[in-house]
Amino acid sequence: MITSTQPLLVVDGVSKSFGSNHVLKDISLTIRRGDVTCIIGASGSGKSTLLRCLNRLETPDSGVVYLDGCPVGMKWEKNKLYEMHPKELAAQRQAMGMVFQGFHLFPHLTALENIMQAPLTVKKEKYEDSRKAGMELLDRVGLVEKARFYPHQLSGGQQQRIAIARSLAMKPKVMLFDEPTSALDPELVGEVLWVMKSLAQDGMTMAVVTHEMAFARDVANHVVFMDGGYIVEEGAPESVIGNPQHERTKSFLSRV
Ligand code: ADP
Ligand code: MG
Repeated sequence: MITSTQPLLVVDGVSKSFGSNHVLKDISLTIRRGDVTCIIGASGSGKSTLLRCLNRLETPDSGVVYLDGCPVGMKWEKNKLYEMHPKELAAQRQAMGMVFQGFHLFPHLTALENIMQAPLTVKKEKYEDSRKAGMELLDRVGLVEKARFYPHQLSGGQQQRIAIARSLAMKPKVMLFDEPTSALDPELVGEVLWVMKSLAQDGMTMAVVTHEMAFARDVANHVVFMDGGYIVEEGAPESVIGNPQHERTKSFLSRV
């Protein structure tokens, strides 16, 4: 049963190894509706793997992720959890928009067509409906005037804003961002963070892997510091970033 007080995402004891490399070690994490959770930590600490376990781009070795109370990628049958059919998983994944470091836009489609593509093909929306929604999303990311531009005619910052709009077009319940500004020239970072901040202010639930500490401090209500596959420290940004308790958090923050 879905209730409004039920957390949107619950990570319950997730572990993941690649060969002998134990990357996630019994991770548990709760993300509530409207939360902006920033995941910080050194390169290799398991941040991307954790994010990818949320929508099952990586399959956890053990542990379960719940979306709205339902196990992601798994189904209860006769009191046991089984792997669900890929089609059912695809439907669950639609609820989790993902934005990566690289923008991965379709090069042969315009900005507007990129945004309309999934609603048209996956959701079988009517052309006019998805065009109208696409233009609204372009407006939301401040790029209405670029509707007919192709990705190669856009800056990295503009491409990333289109990638965000494209994710939003599927009306996700949560947006997952994996270092969305790391590939950008410094002068283009701000416009992408601005779009993300406005999404957060509109109440979008977001999990953001980032090295942008100012963004984490200003926009997140929850900061998670990872090190060596563990969540070492988590809490409000004022605590984790402003007044870290653990040596490893202090040492990481002194280096970024
Ligand atoms: P972060 O995002 O914090 O930099 P990652 O989750 O990408 O960390 O990686 C954590 C560890 O897992 C690293 O040692 C990385 O090499 C390893 N790893 C990540 N993905 C894979 C994969 N698909 N196959 C093998 N090793 C991987
Ligand atoms: Mg990463």
